[in-house]
Amino acid sequence: MQDQLLKALNWDDLYQSLHFSTLEKNQLAEALYNTKVAAYEEALFQEAHRYLPSITKDQVHLTNQYTKGVLKKQANLHASYILKTHNADLKKYLNIIKQDKYPLRNSLQIAQEVDKWTQARFKKRAQLIARTESFTPITKAQTDFYRQNKISNTKFYFKSDKASCKVCKVLVKNNPHSLNKVLRVGIPHPNCPHQWVAHVEKKVELNPANVWLGGANLR
Ligand SMILES: [Zn+2]
Repeated sequence: MQDQLLKALNWDDLYQSLHFSTLEKNQLAEALYNTKVAAYEEALFQEAHRYLPSITKDQVHLTNQYTKGVLKKQANLHASYILKTHNADLKKYLNIIKQDKYPLRNSLQIAQEVDKWTQARFKKRAQLIARTESFTPITKAQTDFYRQNKISNTKFYFKSDKASCKVCKVLVKNNPHSLNKVLRVGIPHPNCPHQWVAHVEKKVELNPANVWLGGANLR
């Protein structure tokens, strides 16, 4: 980074060295997709394990093309959004320091300042990104599990140990919810601290031989 920044002699070079390129966007989309698949498989495992304790993690494998496509589309969209906002914010920040009334800094100092800003920005956004990335697949894995395994009488509780906003308070107040409601609501907003927790009233008998664990048999 340092060497790269040393070469950044003007604002355009500085922007070029710190902006997100299309190649980086594709790498980011790939990473986000992998995060989503891992979150989906973990959530699917957690649900399956509740009814069949003998299930092991390696039996759960997302191969369903439809779901893979949904997660891939979400990852691409989110990567594009991250690229756009990062580049726009970087441009804004560069404009601010360009207009600094006391520019008593050399280009290396400015480059280091911008680099520091980029790092801090990423740190702040990393948590939000991680939460948003994994929540949609977790909810999808849960609803897929109950639908694909035809487990009826499932109620879903919207839960969190953190303070909630108006939208979430209404959802919590009206607990529990039906599977269809969960499908309609999903995760109500970005950075939501809540999670859906399934509750089954009747005892569930699942056949270990044909339990659905992410395969391609349905939809
Ligand atoms: Zn909320």
